[in-house]
Amino acid sequence: MRLYDTHCHFETASPVEIAAILSRARAAGVEAVMAVGGSPALNAAAELAAEVAASGEGMPAVIFATGLDRDQVNVSLCLCVNSEHPPRAVGEIGLDYHYSPETREAQRELFGAQLEEAAKRNLPVIIHTREADDDTLALLREVPSRGVIHCYTGTPEAAKAFLDLGFYISFSGIVTFRLADNVRAAAAVVPDDRILIETDSPFLAPVPLRGKVNEPAFVRHTCEYLATRRGMAADDFAALTFANAERAFA
Ligand SMILES: [Zn+2]
Repeated sequence: MRLYDTHCHFETASPVEIAAILSRARAAGVEAVMAVGGSPALNAAAELAAEVAASGEGMPAVIFATGLDRDQVNVSLCLCVNSEHPPRAVGEIGLDYHYSPETREAQRELFGAQLEEAAKRNLPVIIHTREADDDTLALLREVPSRGVIHCYTGTPEAAKAFLDLGFYISFSGIVTFRLADNVRAAAAVVPDDRILIETDSPFLAPVPLRGKVNEPAFVRHTCEYLATRRGMAADDFAALTFANAERAFA
């Protein structure tokens, strides 16, 4: 099985810990990982993960994304790019009105500025959107963009609107949770050529590992779960999500 974890974070990990996490991922069949930023610390750790993978043996291929997430509205925007190891996407970025409704205006400004930056560099974006799908869609219509709606928890209707804009939709371990019927309903409307899987580690470990510290190796459980729901062999579903991720981050 060849798995692609399209979204994980490494914030507090040291190079030694990162190497151990990546080795376990490879042993579980994870051959590619997108390490995602979102704050100065997360951005640095994502880039570090790519360096650790590039210099070690028996690890998956790791690419990384740099961006400022919605809780970073007081951080000045600087997608400072090390030209030797350029980020392959801008992320994660987006809007969250569940946790921070009081900063809506500032979130929209930060998100819009980074969409424009990504468009200028022709990079895909990795988007977080929670209880903000209307505004997310409005901004994506203003600034034509490509990329991924990550850890999808919205409605099937909003999923169709993101698909119409050309986006890939990624599902985390949440889709395996008992009370996540709405997420399963959304996954059912995403066609085979636009669906991705991710861990969003270190959070949100999938069933049957719920409550553990999540890591890229665990994406296998989300793969197996969604494959069963789609009436597909896990190997086939892994292969199609792998190919989708390669196109999404090309
Ligand atoms: Zn994330």
